[in-house]
Amino acid sequence: MGFFNKIKEGLKKTKSNFINKINSAIKIFSKIDEELFEELEELLITSDVGALASQRICDDLRKIVKKESIKDPNSVKQALKDILIEILEGDCNLNIEPPPSVILVIGVNGVGKTTTIGKLAAKLKNDGKNVILGAADTFRAAAIDQLEIWAERSGVDIVKHQQGSDPAAVVFDTICAAKSRDKDIVICDTAGRLHNKTNLMNELGKIERVIKRELPNASKEVLLVLDATTGQNAINQAKGFLSFAEVTGIILTKLDGTAKGAVVLAIKEELGIPVKFIGLGEQIDDLQPFSAKQFVDAIFEE
Ligand code: GDP
Ligand code: MG
Repeated sequence: MGFFNKIKEGLKKTKSNFINKINSAIKIFSKIDEELFEELEELLITSDVGALASQRICDDLRKIVKKESIKDPNSVKQALKDILIEILEGDCNLNIEPPPSVILVIGVNGVGKTTTIGKLAAKLKNDGKNVILGAADTFRAAAIDQLEIWAERSGVDIVKHQQGSDPAAVVFDTICAAKSRDKDIVICDTAGRLHNKTNLMNELGKIERVIKRELPNASKEVLLVLDATTGQNAINQAKGFLSFAEVTGIILTKLDGTAKGAVVLAIKEELGIPVKFIGLGEQIDDLQPFSAKQFVDAIFEE
């Protein structure tokens, strides 16, 4: 399956929720007036776009309709599409040069961190990068085993310790292994469920300090994984992490299993952090770099 078809397939539920609503609203209105804008704003909010982004979208739409004297409700759709692309556009490239660089993957339990790391490792390896994984989610033995399976699947090295060991020590050992084995990219898994937020904060802080000390000049990504099926809750989760972590990018997973994919607009508008990848399934090739245009095209395609 080609890239675009894969995205289209993955976004099927979001598309039927979103575009059907927009189409029916546009059909009802024979002229463009304030009522149409209000209806659209309402629709956007109920499609998990979030109040802030929905308002911005409708404000922008009003301006464009006025400026370009759009009279036909159908042309509103094209204008809407352009606005969505503009909101979603951002730099989705990973900051991974020069080697060795570090990618720290964070997020609450169950959002898809370990799976995403497996897919990302395979993708980067495919791009010719030499990748090593650090199993720094030491909270559960199963988490370490799961990452090991993904390391095998994607054909990359892994450094692991026993369950319950110090995650920062795992990161330290992974960085040492990366240096001695001449690896390009270190990707570290982390635990999302600790006893409380302070614990999680302290642990991530400790990991960050190890990275800074061992690789002071390295490029670093802190990727926050969010589960699209949780809709607006994902935004609240993200705000929690942003209060103590320097997140450089978002990975939005499980878009294939939800109609709430338009939450990506709320993420971009409310958090201001680029979405770098999207997860469209559980298989190794189900991670795609995020493209604003492809995403919006997939949702709008008739
Ligand atoms: P973690 O606790 O954050 O490490 O989450 P896991 O990587 O263990 O994933 C939790 C569940 O979500 C697993 O069953 C994964 O297969 C599933 N999962 C992860 N990403 C995706 C995705 O993009 N689509 C779907 N459908 N499932 C996913
Ligand atoms: Mg995990």
